[in-house]
Amino acid sequence: MSVDKRAQGEGWIGVDLDGTLAHWDHFRGEEHIGKPVDAMVKRVRQWLREGRDVRLLTARKANPSIRRWMVEHLGQQLPITNVKDRYMIALYDDRAIQVKRNLGTTRDQDEDQVWNKKET
Ligand SMILES: [Mg+2]
Repeated sequence: MSVDKRAQGEGWIGVDLDGTLAHWDHFRGEEHIGKPVDAMVKRVRQWLREGRDVRLLTARKANPSIRRWMVEHLGQQLPITNVKDRYMIALYDDRAIQVKRNLGTTRDQDEDQVWNKKET
């Protein structure tokens, strides 16, 4: 019997890597992962202590550097995925623009920040 984990508040939390968990300025190669972003790493570590299902949701192809980085900075490896599913309850991502459900409206200030951000 399947249980709808999301309906019970037990779904997974997706966390982006570049620019979210790890500092990002420009592409430095597949093996390079930026220094940890302390506030985000702290948040993830707290979720893990609470037993939450946290997954790395990244456009990068999984590689040993990412796994080593997670062990070093998060104390464990998170599952790596590039796919959302209906059990994902939240996504933390530096490029995401939050849209109000069923309304299509955004928080203008956030939108402006994402679009105007220099990445190269
Ligand atoms: Mg990012």
